[in-house]
Order: sequence, then structure tokens, then C-alpha cells
Amino acid sequence: RSWFTDVKMAPPDAILGLTEAFLKDKNPKRVNLGVGAYRDDNSKPWVLPSVKEAQKRVIAKNMNKEYAPIQGLADFYNKSIALALGEDSDILKNNCNATVQSLSGTGALRIGAAFLGLFWKGERVVYLPTPTWPNHRPIFMHSGLKVANYSYYDPNKRALNEQALFESLCKIPEKSIVLLHACAHNPTGVDPNAEQWCEISRIMKSRNLYAFFDMAYLGFASGDIDNDALAVRIFSAEGHTFCLAQSYAKNMGLYGERVGSFTLVCNSKDEAERVTSNLKTIIRAMYSSPPIHGARIAMEIFKDDELYCVWLDDLKTMANRTISMRKELKEKLISLGSKHSWEHITNQIGMFCYTGLKAEQVSRLIKEYSIYLTKDGRIAVVGLTTKNVAYVAESIHAVTK
Ligand code: PMP
Repeated sequence: RSWFTDVKMAPPDAILGLTEAFLKDKNPKRVNLGVGAYRDDNSKPWVLPSVKEAQKRVIAKNMNKEYAPIQGLADFYNKSIALALGEDSDILKNNCNATVQSLSGTGALRIGAAFLGLFWKGERVVYLPTPTWPNHRPIFMHSGLKVANYSYYDPNKRALNEQALFESLCKIPEKSIVLLHACAHNPTGVDPNAEQWCEISRIMKSRNLYAFFDMAYLGFASGDIDNDALAVRIFSAEGHTFCLAQSYAKNMGLYGERVGSFTLVCNSKDEAERVTSNLKTIIRAMYSSPPIHGARIAMEIFKDDELYCVWLDDLKTMANRTISMRKELKEKLISLGSKHSWEHITNQIGMFCYTGLKAEQVSRLIKEYSIYLTKDGRIAVVGLTTKNVAYVAESIHAVTK
């Protein structure tokens, strides 16, 4: 008898399962709109020109492969948080940030969850928007925190449910943790505007709620970093102390390199030092120290003005291609004579569009048209190209007639 005879099969990952089915599909017209990874107009993964050049420079330096410090490469994570808060941030000037390198965005969320799991003195519940990235739930539960939900999206209007959002934030017990998508909400692509962020900030302050920002798409959503950092900048200007998970998977295309950072904003330099020392203890036991290659690439981009500008252009290239695919998909659906409103396709931002397609329409798209998307009707707009967008529009029209 083995020790593990009772272990049951865990459910497969919903999104990675789609890719498997896509790869088995023999239909030459097949389209994968499931995965959240940028593709160029030939449906190929895109290594950013800035990243290619940075990598060349890193390799030319012929550096050794010693361990990074527990908290990672300082030149990387210091620049990372400056990118989010802005170079002139008071938090940074006063050294009130406890920042460490992380294993991309997921790793940053994990470190934050572990820290809050150990030290959070308020209500031990993290409130997540409905819907949210499916991984949020297990990440927080693993740290012994409870999870609950707040209203966010209106499926009828396919837009933010402003009233329900504000009302449900007002009902959250004081001193709870609220997870906020900093920009390009996944899966809906629906973000609050500046005014709505100010109201969210006001409510959370008056209710004494703690913000945990998940920033997986900085610069990727609009092509402009300051624009995408708006929510976090509003919260810092309003004097919130929050925490922040950052990822360079999407905005540098460093998916597999696992480059990210985690920051906890503190009230003083002294508090930040004490928090940092505990983040290091957590990291030491989790994975000891982070990988160096991807962070070196990011650092190379950050420290050279010219290369940094190439990166800003690369961000615009990705954002503009995505935005133009949204337009084309919407226009094609309209010109096919679809009677539905498709305004939300261009109103939403970022990598995903929450189409509003019903489960049975999604399953017809997969079975009859070899177009792969998640059951909730989410499509990765970054998987659309000038070559497949007409076919996708025709197929969506066919299943929504
Ligand atoms: N948060 C959200 C909302 C995301 O969409 C993603 C990427 N799918 C992540 C975090 C983390 O991704 P990664 O660990 O690859 O940086």
C-alpha cells in the first residue's frame, strides 16, 4: 500500500486545458483566444525589441551566477516601485516603502498574502471583486485568510456596476482587506475612471479598509505608464497605506522569466525596515532568493534612457495593436448586421474582453468553429490578428443571431 492511494485527481487548470484542446484541433482556422499572452499579427509570441537588446547586453557582461540577496536585486526593485508610484512620490522620498523582488505577479501576491496572514490585525478576510482572476482565491486561502466578494461588474450593461460597487464597499466590515485590480481588470477589461477611483478611495478611507493592489498590466493597458498607474497614485496621494503586487510578465513580455516586485507602504522608514526584515524571513523559507536573469534584463532597460524609450515604444506597439483589434472586431460585427450592441468591446481595456457570450454560445464557438475561449465568455483580444479577426467576427455573429 502506497502512502498516497487516497489522493484524488485535482481538477485541471481551466485555461491551460483550453490550450491543450486547441493544440489537438486539426481545423486550419482554429484560433486560441484563451491564454493571456500577447501575440503579434502572425499569432506568434513577441519578444520585445527592448528586451532582446537588454538581454544581449546582459549576456555580453558575462556576469557570474551567484545568488541574489533574499530581497532581490536592489536596482531592479527600487526602479520597479518608482515606476508605479512616480519618481517624485513622497512615499519613496521618505523611504516608507518595504519593497522586494518577487516571482512575477503571482509570487508578489503570495508574499503579500503570507505577510498579511502573519501580521494582519484587522478582519482576516480579503474581499475580491466579482468576477476576478481565479487564482486570487487560492493564493489568499493558502495563507490562512478568508476570502469574500464585493460587487463590481454589471453583466447586463457589460460595464462597471458603479452603484453596486460603492454600496458593497460600504458594507464591508471595517479593517478588512480589499483586493483591487490596479488597471485592466481581469477578466472583464472594465476599470473605474478617475472620479470613481477617488470615490473608492474615499469610501475605503472612511471605512478603514486596507487596499491590496494587483498591478499585472502597468503600461500594457493604455500604452502609457502614468495613465495605468492612476489608481495607485490616487491612493498614495490620499494617504492610504496599501500594498502592491507588480508583474513584468505582460508589460515586458517576460512571462517565463518570473520578474516582479512586492511593496508594502508603511508609515515610517523605521516601520518599512521592520516590515522588510519580515518579508525576507518569509521569502527565505519560501524560495530563499529570486532568479536573476529576468531582473537583470529589466534593470538594463531601466538604467539606459535610450533603451527605456524603446521599451515605452514596445508598450505602445502592444497596446495599439490590441486597441485596433478591438475596433476591428466591433466594426466587423456591426457590418455583418449583428443586432447586438458591441460597444463594450472598445470600452473595455487591456488584454481581455468580456464578450457577454453565454456558456452555450462559447461551447458552440469551440465545437463548431474551433475558436477557443473561457466559459465565462472572456476572449484574449491579444490573440486576434488581421488574418483571423473576420473569421472570429463571423463565428461570433453566427452563434449570437
Ligand atoms: N494578477 C492578474 C489579475 C493577472 O491577470 C495575472 C496574470 N494572468 C497575474 C496577477 C499574475 O501573473 P504572473 O504571475 O505571470 O505575473
